[in-house]
Amino acid sequence: MAEQPTADVVIVGGGVAGQVAGMFVARHGFDTAILSSGSPLLRRNAHLENFPGFPAGINARLLLRLMSEQAERAGCRFVDAEVTRLDSGDEGFTVHTASGSRWSSEYVIAATKNEVSYLEHLEDVEILDRGKLFVATDGEGRTDVEGLYIAGRMARKPHQAIVAAGHGAEVAVRLLEDDETPFYRDWVAPERYFTGRDREVPPGCEEIDRAEQRRREQEAIETMAPYFEEPYPEPPEQHPSVDEDS
Ligand SMILES: Cc1cc2nc3c(=O)[nH]c(=O)nc-3n(C[C@H](O)[C@H](O)[C@H](O)COP(=O)(O)OP(=O)(O)OC[C@H]3O[C@@H](n4cnc5c(N)ncnc54)[C@H](O)[C@@H]3O)c2cc1C
Repeated sequence: MAEQPTADVVIVGGGVAGQVAGMFVARHGFDTAILSSGSPLLRRNAHLENFPGFPAGINARLLLRLMSEQAERAGCRFVDAEVTRLDSGDEGFTVHTASGSRWSSEYVIAATKNEVSYLEHLEDVEILDRGKLFVATDGEGRTDVEGLYIAGRMARKPHQAIVAAGHGAEVAVRLLEDDETPFYRDWVAPERYFTGRDREVPPGCEEIDRAEQRRREQEAIETMAPYFEEPYPEPPEQHPSVDEDS
């Protein structure tokens, strides 16, 4: 029998919330797999004008591509897979996919917007029917199933990309803190910011000197520049029920 895949954290759903959550837990060093099938909703946007950092807006397909590249650089694996069922047991989670894979993981972050069918059999998961389906959380992304978190629109967060991104980050940080990493920051600080005050560099932080800061900035410029030379070629995806030919 083929060996079953494992990860420390399985993220279900590779939209904005799932990708950002994955980036944070992977930066901490957790082996992270993002299992997703279908398009992130933001691919339908025609021009994204309310995501901070882009004064004249940005092509939403380009933003998603940049997010994926960032999550991959952090160490996330992207797997094209539809999740059909999640089981929780003493040894953690088993994540079943439509192709027959069974992933084992210690943590799961579910970020599939209104698709909740793979969770419905779990007694301790409360599904909220508000016309669309959501999952109840404690307000910080936790469910009553230990180790199962909900991120983005699926947690009934407001329907904007920046909110989904922020909530993905918040849920990831909660998970890391629940894993006993106190006050988790994920900061890059200038040299001596902590040590210059006789303080330890806190968990999830690093200090870098001026040369390293310049090296990283140069790499950032070289990474981004090609993406902004030409309009991004992919057009918005239409709502599936709109007839494009009429
Ligand atoms: C036309 C349109 C325009 C918009 N414009 C803007 C805008 O201008 N500004 C703004 O802030 N927001 C906008 N939004 C809203 C924004 O796109 C969403 O709020 C945000 O992207 C939600 O992110 P999410 O990660 O929670 O969900 P999603 O992006 O929907 O991610 C969920 C992912 O999970 C996958 N998935 C579902 N079920 C499964 C399963 N069983 N197994 C594996 N994968 C699964 C889905 O295919 C999807 O890729 C727009 C939305 C639309 C439709």
